[in-house]
Amino acid sequence: MKRFMVAVDLEGVACALPQPGGSVEDSFNIEFVRGQATREANAAARALFAGGAEEVVVWDNHGRGCSLNYRELDSRVEIAIGATVERRIPDEGRPLAGLVLIGYHAMEGTPQAVMAHTFSSVTYQGIAINGENWGELAFDACAVGDHGCPILFVSSDDAGCREARHFFPWVETVATKRSLAFTRIVSLHPDAAVERIYAGVRRALERYDEMEPFVVPGPVRCEIRYKRLDAAQHAHLVDREGKAFAFLDPFTRFGMLDRPWGFMLPDA
Ligand SMILES: [Zn+2]
Repeated sequence: MKRFMVAVDLEGVACALPQPGGSVEDSFNIEFVRGQATREANAAARALFAGGAEEVVVWDNHGRGCSLNYRELDSRVEIAIGATVERRIPDEGRPLAGLVLIGYHAMEGTPQAVMAHTFSSVTYQGIAINGENWGELAFDACAVGDHGCPILFVSSDDAGCREARHFFPWVETVATKRSLAFTRIVSLHPDAAVERIYAGVRRALERYDEMEPFVVPGPVRCEIRYKRLDAAQHAHLVDREGKAFAFLDPFTRFGMLDRPWGFMLPDA
């Protein structure tokens, strides 16, 4: 069993920046960002193969899940493309030996962190599990961790790396850039980021025995704060007993779930 997953978002790669008021999608250098995300993902994949991986699946997960330049990836990888509303993780039921997160970003509300958001910057003000705010780092690691897969490595801006080490103290991290504001960074050179990610993933494999799955036992209390009243009122959120989430205040819904990511399923 030597199959690894490299999950790739766009916001956290070297030199990625949003246009003011927009997202990474309408950044002035979005084509560069897609290429850099591809190169950073490829560095992780090559490091995994060099460290003994037999199979690597690259999961292209920003937005609709179709952002990378696939021909530039190492030809040994498989590529998970696309998204559905039922399930975030492209789970084929095949065991995974490790998860690597590339290009991730800090959660919504992180001060000064570039493009900090949780799933949708226009929808959510925050999502808390058992009273603690979670971002995409924790949700994705938990969804894969439920299958026993350890989280090995995270690359992000410096704030995202701090968030990763808070949730997964054993993890190897590489900061591709330092965040000064939502729209300002000091970045590594793109080639330096690629080199550090390669070395970081190799280090993570050398420390493989220390790596753990990120698992939070259920049931959990899930609290979702929306940015708009109508979004809070219209949200279809059902708890583990099939009842609608209650209102904590007009912007905030809460309920008990079997698993932390259960609110993303239309019927769970
Ligand atoms: Zn993204």
